[in-house]
Amino acid sequence: MNDVVIIGSGMAGLTAAIYLTRSGVVPVVICGDTPGGQLMQTDNVENYPGFASINGAELMIKTMNQAEKLGAKMIYETVTQIQSAGNGFEIDVTSGDQLRAKTILIATGATHKRLGCKGEAEFTNKGVSWCATCDGALSKGKPIAVIGGGNTAVMEALFLSNIASKVYLIHRRDTLRADEIMQRRILAKSNVECVWNATVDEIIGDTNVTAIKLNSGKIIDVVAVFIAIGVTPATDFVENLVSLDKDGYIASNETKTSVPGIFVAGDVENCLTKQAVYAAGRGCLAAQQIERYLGIR
Ligand SMILES: Cc1cc2nc3c(=O)[nH]c(=O)nc-3n(C[C@H](O)[C@H](O)[C@H](O)COP(=O)(O)OP(=O)(O)OC[C@H]3O[C@@H](n4cnc5c(N)ncnc54)[C@H](O)[C@@H]3O)c2cc1C
Repeated sequence: MNDVVIIGSGMAGLTAAIYLTRSGVVPVVICGDTPGGQLMQTDNVENYPGFASINGAELMIKTMNQAEKLGAKMIYETVTQIQSAGNGFEIDVTSGDQLRAKTILIATGATHKRLGCKGEAEFTNKGVSWCATCDGALSKGKPIAVIGGGNTAVMEALFLSNIASKVYLIHRRDTLRADEIMQRRILAKSNVECVWNATVDEIIGDTNVTAIKLNSGKIIDVVAVFIAIGVTPATDFVENLVSLDKDGYIASNETKTSVPGIFVAGDVENCLTKQAVYAAGRGCLAAQQIERYLGIR
């Protein structure tokens, strides 16, 4: 019986592992198919305190090494299901093995939906982004496009309108889905142009993005494309056990889920911001909640 099994090895899971090891607990971290999590995909992180600029994979490898050096055990498997069993839980992984734990931390993150158009993969990190907070500053004074029509897309467009020279908000319908107050704010911005009934057929570029081609054939010159068409939290293995909120995230109260003994941290929670430093903070809080639950704090 393990005291703690952490599911996910992104910033939330690894930070929890660091805190738990330093409290004398030996956590088992099940890494999933992306050891290191989402930040492994990005070349340059400029908003993680302590590093003016660092490659995302380098930051996560450092964090994994730190957790391992302190005593966390890494398992390179993916969890398929968890169930309650006696005073704890059973955790099934892809190889067919089963782990047992008194407590579980779910830190499985989320995946941003892709457009699936030509050029999207090729220009990822070269102008194509899913995070205005992370990459907006790189487009200072230049034209950019935001794709989507919900609250997230409008929030991203509002934020970027203070940085970019012009924001094209590309939406497949003729009205925005965002809340009315958000719609009013974005429509009042003089440097935002809504392009209605439009989808992106192709993202064009050389070394970086230079333009997008719409379904109408129209080409718009932009230096960056911010995609905000939705996020899928990684909850499939736990959907029948813990409560999810209306958006499909794991419902949490200070990192506690609906099931005593199961905790949650990071992008798989419905948080207002999806940032590495915030995921780290939630991982820290979850670790301390687990220590209280185990009676060692
Ligand atoms: C391209 C890109 C660039 C970004 N740039 C920045 C930036 O510059 N600054 C910033 O602060 N934030 C940035 N972010 C956001 C940041 O990466 C996330 O907020 C952060 O990674 C969230 O951490 P997390 O631990 O909650 O989840 P994740 O990083 O998503 O990690 C989830 C982990 O869970 C594992 N997992 C999933 N399902 C299972 C399963 N069934 N069993 C076992 N393991 C599982 C995965 O393998 C992974 O290890 C960026 C995100 C992306 C996609």
